[in-house]
Amino acid sequence: MLLPAAAQDRQQPDPAATEVWTPEPARVAPGSAAGAPSDALVLFDGKDLREWVSAASPGKPAGWFVADGMLTVRGGSGDIQTRRSFRDYQIHLEWRAPASLAGSGQARGNSGLFLASTGNGSGYEIQILDCADNKTYANGQAASIYKQHIPLVNACAPAGQWQTYDVIWTAPRFSDDGALASPAYVTALHNGIVVQNHVALHGETVYAGKPTYRRHGPAPIKLQDHGDPVSFRNIWIRPL
Ligand code: MG
Repeated sequence: MLLPAAAQDRQQPDPAATEVWTPEPARVAPGSAAGAPSDALVLFDGKDLREWVSAASPGKPAGWFVADGMLTVRGGSGDIQTRRSFRDYQIHLEWRAPASLAGSGQARGNSGLFLASTGNGSGYEIQILDCADNKTYANGQAASIYKQHIPLVNACAPAGQWQTYDVIWTAPRFSDDGALASPAYVTALHNGIVVQNHVALHGETVYAGKPTYRRHGPAPIKLQDHGDPVSFRNIWIRPL
């Protein structure tokens, strides 16, 4: 049955009633292949380690190599972490496994991005590892949330080439009594390809056994010294 025109008008919601004009998102100039967006905090611009410290001794400077615009793991010197702490954020970094590698499996271009450091050697790791021609367990390959989430695809470039990680981290929340209120979530792109789509973490990364959560607040971001001379460049973060 057709309604009279006036009745039809009465039934139409006003589209303007659902338009939201404020607050307006801040205007941000996009980054380029080599540069950060205008509102990012640059964590490494190729020149120095002023934003980084030793993870074992946060009062001491980070001991990795800086040369030719890149940061390279100094094997045996230990993990490094950001001087500042963060809660939720978007991070971009570029990494490169050396072209000449002798090892295999987990001993081949291994490093890691710990999305929140909860102590020396602990936190939540997204794996960095040569995976272009290197077999290992799927939940420990590059772009895995180590021992928790297998990447959706293997987006690895060959060792020796620069690769990008763009990761969106939502920190876990804890109630006053220390119980988990909401888990950590990770969305990650590897070389521009979605490899983790809003996955919920089961707890902190552990090499063996079952992951669990321990209450923590804003935390530094850590890069892993696994003994291999993996290099990094163009690291920036946008707290959310
Ligand atoms: Mg690792």
